[in-house]
Amino acid sequence: MTGGVVSDAKSAYAEQSERAARRDEAVRAAVEQGLLGPGSPVVGLLDVTGIREAAAGLRAAFEAVTAPGTPVLHAFAVKASPLVPVVRLLHEEGIGAEVASPGELALARAAGLPGEHIVLDAPAKTTAELREALDLGATLHADNPQELDRLDGLMRSSGSRSPIGIRVNPQVGAGSIEALSTATATSKFGVALRDEGAREWVVRAYLDRPWLTRLHVHAGSQGVPLSVMAQGIAETYRLAEEINERAGHRRIDTLDIGGGLAVNFGSDETTPTYAQYARLLSEAVPGLFDGRYGLVTEFGRSLLAKQGTVVARVEYAKSAGGRAVAVTHAGVQVATRTVYAPGTWPLRIAAYDAKGRPKTGPEVVQDVAGPACFAGDLLAEGRALPLLEQGDYAAALDTGAYYFAHHYAYNSLARPGVYGFVPDGAGGVTFATVREPQTIAEIVAESGGSFASSLTELG
Ligand SMILES: *Cc1c(COP(=O)(O)O)cnc(C)c1O
Repeated sequence: MTGGVVSDAKSAYAEQSERAARRDEAVRAAVEQGLLGPGSPVVGLLDVTGIREAAAGLRAAFEAVTAPGTPVLHAFAVKASPLVPVVRLLHEEGIGAEVASPGELALARAAGLPGEHIVLDAPAKTTAELREALDLGATLHADNPQELDRLDGLMRSSGSRSPIGIRVNPQVGAGSIEALSTATATSKFGVALRDEGAREWVVRAYLDRPWLTRLHVHAGSQGVPLSVMAQGIAETYRLAEEINERAGHRRIDTLDIGGGLAVNFGSDETTPTYAQYARLLSEAVPGLFDGRYGLVTEFGRSLLAKQGTVVARVEYAKSAGGRAVAVTHAGVQVATRTVYAPGTWPLRIAAYDAKGRPKTGPEVVQDVAGPACFAGDLLAEGRALPLLEQGDYAAALDTGAYYFAHHYAYNSLARPGVYGFVPDGAGGVTFATVREPQTIAEIVAESGGSFASSLTELG
């Protein structure tokens, strides 16, 4: 993969248009093969080729800037797409898993990942969770002094081969989306480095514990500029250098620089690229890449967002107050952030006809609505698109991370099926089930179906 940076420039455009072409083919094939239709009016589709390309691009970008032989673990942030086959596919592509809850840890294990490829960052780890991670040999990052106390006890009683670090918050400031900004002065994550006494507490914590060998920061997210992310990583690197200097040896041997690369939701173009980010970091913090430190990254959204599409049938096309409204089966249950915060999370919509072919024709300003019973359940409002008619399909693009895999059970709407696809080499498309659609019986069971009379019998 040494040609990564070159191919990054050479083929960025080809990669985008190939991805768009694969998506169009997949929608058509999903209709043809009956994955999508009147009986299954909404599906999530994942571009397996695109996922493999994104993983290869990530590896190549860091290989191009790190000293030969530098250990690098790219740990996929499972919360971005908590689907076992996705984690397994990435594992096959040489990518580990960053997990932040007992469920995510179980998903990573179900995907076959060994402990050495797992990083546990949950903000509210219980003692049992800490013990499980230590038994597995997974990497652990303590979030705060109380958690470090717990780890002291566990390490005294049973020890562990787990690499362990502390998460710090460099307090470098917010991005454009407050709810997603991890490095503000009052962010809930990690030890706030600029608070009085905090930096010295961190240094002492390392000097007192030979088993503390890593340092973790995750300062980016959608809306955070690359320069702010780089600044957070630079501050963390300086802290590692200070600790190592005061320890008199290389106590911290690995830095985890988190994830948080933003995604372009405005077009098919992948921007910024991993190669751009890795180059910027290697210029801003050269010492981090000279071979003295191992590296861990934790990208989520940037690996998966552009590889996913949610496609929904237009059940009814109507008009209200002179506005065309397509009532589809994709709304708040699969695009929660977009529906509740449409200004912050606008999604591109593509129109397909009843046979799943890209729809052409004059653009009409219309609303693309979801199936939920509240007025704001809109995938897009006042969007210019070829007129969506009954039986057509609307696709919400770039929804591979934090969208259809993150079901919101409003109106007891069923979780849609998720299918991965690859071109079959003969002009067709092959699908594989990633997650089956939720059945109505499952919804009843999960909604207390077997406790129907528990309240009436209570007295
Ligand atoms: C959410 C999260 C990530 C992944 O963030 P993306 O924006 O999806 O890349 C990585 N590390 C930690 C600790 C996180 O909480």
